[in-house]
Amino acid sequence: MLQLDQVSLNYGSFRALDRVRLSVDPGELVVLLGANGAGKSSIFLTCSGIHKLSSGSVRLNGQDVTGAAPAALVTRGLVHCPEGRKLFPMMSVRQNLLLGAYLYRGDKAGTQRSLDEVLAMFPILQQKQHDPAGSLSGGQQQMVAIGRALMGRPKVLLLDEPSLGLAPLVVKQMFDVIKQVNQSGVTVVLAEQNAYQALSIAHRGYVIERGRIVLEGSRDELLGNAEVRRAYIGG
Ligand code: ATP
Repeated sequence: MLQLDQVSLNYGSFRALDRVRLSVDPGELVVLLGANGAGKSSIFLTCSGIHKLSSGSVRLNGQDVTGAAPAALVTRGLVHCPEGRKLFPMMSVRQNLLLGAYLYRGDKAGTQRSLDEVLAMFPILQQKQHDPAGSLSGGQQQMVAIGRALMGRPKVLLLDEPSLGLAPLVVKQMFDVIKQVNQSGVTVVLAEQNAYQALSIAHRGYVIERGRIVLEGSRDELLGNAEVRRAYIGG
């Protein structure tokens, strides 16, 4: 469904990604693990066409989409939910959600269907749909960010650090939400520092260090790997 082959990315003279190879199958939930600055966001920004890769290729649904523009990638089913939520705090929850369907603005019925589905998935957003997004709690704002991404009709959803800054109980709810999104048929690639919880809901994962994939494996392989436990889980 999504394949990166030998993808490298430079920021000026700094090589942020070095020959990254990764592959995600339809229906999978795949985790990218790595410390701050390892390159997780850079992988997403490259996949979604925001940063132009220096070399290598990206394939989506079997088609070469290397260098495609972000909007073209969204209409092909690749939607990126960025780190830090990036909501419009003064706009209502509903308006923020509708922005996610901007590319489908000619399809009012389809957009309404997506909105109904998102509000059904997140009942709290149904209740708060007319409130300014900035007035919601951190966890609720993250739900708005995920909901807005779902309004873009993803086949593959790139989720960048959705649990960042959330209280432990809310983190658990967030992972339940992500599992639910995946079970609804959306392929999910999840960048996380909460390694244990992320792996617990994932099928497979990759470990990234200094822009390189250093390890890949199934959930159980990674959870059982002594090095992964030491570096990312503790104990
Ligand atoms: P975090 O969890 O902190 O976002 P990350 O794994 O997502 O970490 P990236 O944000 O992809 O890491 O950053 C990878 C490396 O590239 C880091 O060393 C970072 O400082 C650097 N970097 C990221 N964006 C830029 C940029 N626009 N210009 C220059 N260097 C950058």
